[in-house]
Amino acid sequence: MDQTWIDMYEAAKAVRGHKVISDYVTAGEVSAAILSKSGKIYTGVCIDTCSTLGICAERNAIFNMITNGEYEIARVLCISPNEGKGAPCGACRELMVQLMPGKYKDIEIMINYKTDRVMKLGELTPEWWID
Ligand SMILES: [Zn+2]
Repeated sequence: MDQTWIDMYEAAKAVRGHKVISDYVTAGEVSAAILSKSGKIYTGVCIDTCSTLGICAERNAIFNMITNGEYEIARVLCISPNEGKGAPCGACRELMVQLMPGKYKDIEIMINYKTDRVMKLGELTPEWWID
C-alpha cells in the first residue's frame, strides 16, 4: 500500500468518533478522506439526523473539497463502523459521476483497507446514466 492511502486513512481516523450532538443529530460514526487531483486530503464525517437531513462522510468530504476550491477527486477512502470496509453508496457515486463526467471512472476507491483492495469507480458504476 502506498503512503498516500496510509495518510488518507490517518486523516479519516483523526475525525472519526461517534458524537451525540443533540436529541436529533449524531455524527462521526463513519469518516472519509478524499484525495484531490492536486494531492490535498479533505475529510468529512457522516451526519445522521431525523427527517433525512444528514449526509454521508464521503459526500461531506467532497463538499469540503469543493468548499476549498477543488473539483476533481483522485481517491476516496472511508472508515465505516466495521473499520475501513465499504464502497460508497449510490448517492455518493452519483455525486462523483456528476462532478467529473467523462473522468469519474478513474477515481480510485478503497474498498477494504485491511486487505488493500482498491477498485475504480468505473468498475463500481459500469453502466451509469452519464458516460
Ligand atoms: Zn454515501
